[in-house]
Amino acid sequence: WRQRSELAALADLPPQLDSELERLDKEFWVSAEKLKEVVNRFREELDEGLQENGRNIPMNITWVHSLPSGNERGTFLTLDLGGTNLRVCKVTLHGQEPPNPTNSPSPGQKFSLEQEQYKLPDHIKSSTAEELWTHIADKLSTFLSSKGLDKEYTKEKPMPLGFTFSYPATQDAINHAVLQTWTKGFDIKGVEGHDVAAQLREKMAARNLPLELICVINDTVGAMIASAYNDPETIIGAIFGTGCNAAYMSSLSSIAKLSPSDPRLKSSSSSGGKTTGKMAINCEYGAFDNAHAVLPRTAYDAQIDAASPRPGEQSFEKLSAGLYLGEIFRLVLLDLADRGLVFKDRDVGRLRQPYTIDTSFLSQIEDDESAGFAQSRQMCRETLGFDLADGEVELTRRLAELIAVRGARLCACGVAAICTKEGITRGHVAADGSVANKHPKFKRRWARALGEILDWDRREGEEDPIVITSAEDGSGVGCAIIAAMEMERRGRRA
Ligand code: BGC
Ligand code: MG
Repeated sequence: WRQRSELAALADLPPQLDSELERLDKEFWVSAEKLKEVVNRFREELDEGLQENGRNIPMNITWVHSLPSGNERGTFLTLDLGGTNLRVCKVTLHGQEPPNPTNSPSPGQKFSLEQEQYKLPDHIKSSTAEELWTHIADKLSTFLSSKGLDKEYTKEKPMPLGFTFSYPATQDAINHAVLQTWTKGFDIKGVEGHDVAAQLREKMAARNLPLELICVINDTVGAMIASAYNDPETIIGAIFGTGCNAAYMSSLSSIAKLSPSDPRLKSSSSSGGKTTGKMAINCEYGAFDNAHAVLPRTAYDAQIDAASPRPGEQSFEKLSAGLYLGEIFRLVLLDLADRGLVFKDRDVGRLRQPYTIDTSFLSQIEDDESAGFAQSRQMCRETLGFDLADGEVELTRRLAELIAVRGARLCACGVAAICTKEGITRGHVAADGSVANKHPKFKRRWARALGEILDWDRREGEEDPIVITSAEDGSGVGCAIIAAMEMERRGRRA
């Protein structure tokens, strides 16, 4: 591990910790060869998901038939429920150019946006459908009145609404979405197996909100569409955040489970809508390897799975996504403490609390360049409630690195599988999410792993054929663009 680590050493480790780190490195390091093996299996599962009776990766049909033209226009309300926050936006799309640059808040921008972000109260995550939708309808109502939109729109002439619902859903149409299973630690009763569009509509109607739900979309699809609005090289929308997942445009002919004569294709292309021969697929690849055939799972990963509300599900996500990285770190430290290797004679009560260590803790540790790692020490003191000895600081730094490196390398596998399956050899992977945006080394590690998988001859200063870019706002702007495209298909204007 010493050769692989990029971190400056602080202290010599006592021999016992040194050999523990060697063991941990063996368990967490994913070699290029292993990555390739993972990608091979990943491709098979993506293919299986497109078959009639696919299991594992869902490969959900989204009813988004094309990338945007860039001319989409109109004003929309968007709602984003994704795991951490609830966000409501009023989005105005200007098309190619703002109609009147002096009126536009930032001339040259193709959209303007006003938004409100609400923290989702923790108790909601394990409450009931009733509580969830009531809470959401409340926030929509507050937003509408604070912006005067409740006066501007009526039940007869409602404001179009797009809903970014970042969970796996079966869709028979773009304004319908039956939740397959909660992910990311959510466990709200009475939603799985139900149409979330219908549940939301009912609560909006009860409050007389002047809104018409046009589309329910996934955050990955939103990221792809929002990014393609500006960047024609966009090939994939990917989220590396609380959860992990990606979407791409597939040709209809590759989707075995969707026959060309499927009546749902007709109804979604009626009233003037064109068929494009394409369909955005939301992979939901967080569910990769639920059969535990290939991923290098450690005992800590097994512990996380067993304690989660949905054991056996989202196996890939539980090894690589932001919700879990801090928790893996906590479980390793706790194991070492329980075996008397670290934190001797200290009260590790706080370390025993599930999910006390946020993933941003890991980024901050890796980011720390303060003298003697004073910042990391301070953070540990605040989070754990005691001071760390030099060797312990050193160990936590290496551990943060090991876990983040494994996550980034595994994250490259999903995109590599989509690209090899689809024969994509170049383009931009529009990425969003807290891990991609906040972890200082994620993108570089991800790119290196992708190069190892695809056998690129990477050269200093040259751009890779497939690059990770920062996605535009998918759950706000992307969702509005999809609503605009859908209304256009139906010959309507927003
Ligand atoms: C969800 C996906 C979502 C991803 C990123 C996963 O847990 O199942 O729908 O795209 O998280 O937010
Ligand atoms: Mg989100």
